[in-house]
Amino acid sequence: MLSIIKNYIKKNTGILIRLDDIAENMNWNLMNKAEFLFEKYKIKPVLGVIPNNKDNELLSYPKKNDFWEQVRIWKSKGWEIAMHGSTHVYDKDTKNKDYFGHGGRSEFCGHPIEIQMLKIKDGLKKFDIEKIKIRSFYAPNHTYDKNTLDALKVSGINEIIDGYGLMPYTENDIKFIPQLFYKLSSLPFGIQTTQIHLNYWKQKDFDNFEKFILNNLNKIITYDQALEKINNNLFYKFINVLTKTMLKIKRILKK
Ligand SMILES: [Zn+2]
Repeated sequence: MLSIIKNYIKKNTGILIRLDDIAENMNWNLMNKAEFLFEKYKIKPVLGVIPNNKDNELLSYPKKNDFWEQVRIWKSKGWEIAMHGSTHVYDKDTKNKDYFGHGGRSEFCGHPIEIQMLKIKDGLKKFDIEKIKIRSFYAPNHTYDKNTLDALKVSGINEIIDGYGLMPYTENDIKFIPQLFYKLSSLPFGIQTTQIHLNYWKQKDFDNFEKFILNNLNKIITYDQALEKINNNLFYKFINVLTKTMLKIKRILKK
């Protein structure tokens, strides 16, 4: 009996490495080190690529001229290239009415569906020109509304790397891979996604990341392995609601 439980836990525990704000302008020093690390440990991360980056804060980082060639190389290694917004510019306030109740500013949430479709179309167009096929998406600042989900589906995307819970799940005909914590953390059970912003990191943060990788090497999974874990049973639905409530309370207490 105990071995069955142990086996179940092992089978359903995993960490998906997701790097955010991958764009022409970024902290290339740490990105090169991250690439070396992933190669060394045979890790296939998710890279959230911003197709038409116009975010002034991000534009202040060094530019790589052959960026898109680099993205194609990453893709050819089996890394998951996800679309992370289109311009990464926040032009709406969610007024806490966003899908995940995250609050804050947004590139998508609050815009009419036609505008959101255009934004997604612009993003996909860039990937298309660069001959990179996209199947997954996550919005800057975790902010979506129902229109974002509809606009994504109309555009042929039905996988989002965001959401609550311990297991990937389907909701509104979209596959969600949960992303719970800002800090690197390892849970004893469940599939979780990291949220790594190399641009804000110092060498010390990177060293901690390397330690995290080494300590959790047997838990690190690929994007496809995460998709295989989609589980829509009632227990996990309940856990989704529970994690959402807990994280919302935590955020309110922090404010
Ligand atoms: Zn971002």
